Amino acid sequence: MERVTVFDYPTTAHVRRHGPFGYQDYASYRDWLRDEFEFRCVYCLKREVWGERTAAYHLDHFVPQAHDATKTLDYDNLVYVCASCNALKADLLIPDPCRIAYGHCIRVNDDGTIDALNEEGERLVDKLRLDSPDRTRFRRWILDNLRSLVRNTERALLVSWTRYPEDLPDLRRKHEPGNSRPAGREQCCFARRERGELPDTY
Ligand SMILES: [Zn+2]
Repeated sequence: MERVTVFDYPTTAHVRRHGPFGYQDYASYRDWLRDEFEFRCVYCLKREVWGERTAAYHLDHFVPQAHDATKTLDYDNLVYVCASCNALKADLLIPDPCRIAYGHCIRVNDDGTIDALNEEGERLVDKLRLDSPDRTRFRRWILDNLRSLVRNTERALLVSWTRYPEDLPDLRRKHEPGNSRPAGREQCCFARRERGELPDTY
């Protein structure tokens, strides 16, 4: 049976595709970060398409502003996260998804429970409370539902749970003040979908 992989953490550290700079407020980086981190929380993998997006996703200063105010508008210090993870992380320092592969640190089991595989994983689970009953129940609920859709070959519904959002931002049309990785604009999901390169699901 086709495995449900929505809670498989990446097995390589994240390599940034985009490098906008020069905006006067960090909220302007939102669309770049949505695309950069595939429209889901980098910490718990909760996806935009699983619920309402309004106020549900935040831009997290990975190195907190309280630790280093010079990084406030630094794109490379911003990650896309859900409101729960953002509130829990607050001003804590945790393992950096752009330096280490979370897939080597934590593993979600078929029943929604999560295991730490090393010390970094323990820190992630502990600080972000990834093993709380609430978060475990949420993952189990998603996994049970998706497995049921796989079993019953409910293809259309399965796609609706694992597709990209409808409102992909076309980053080629942004007028960012500067960009250290301009080639990434053509690799945004919108452009890939236009070229027929974006998979239906992920
Ligand atoms: Zn999250």
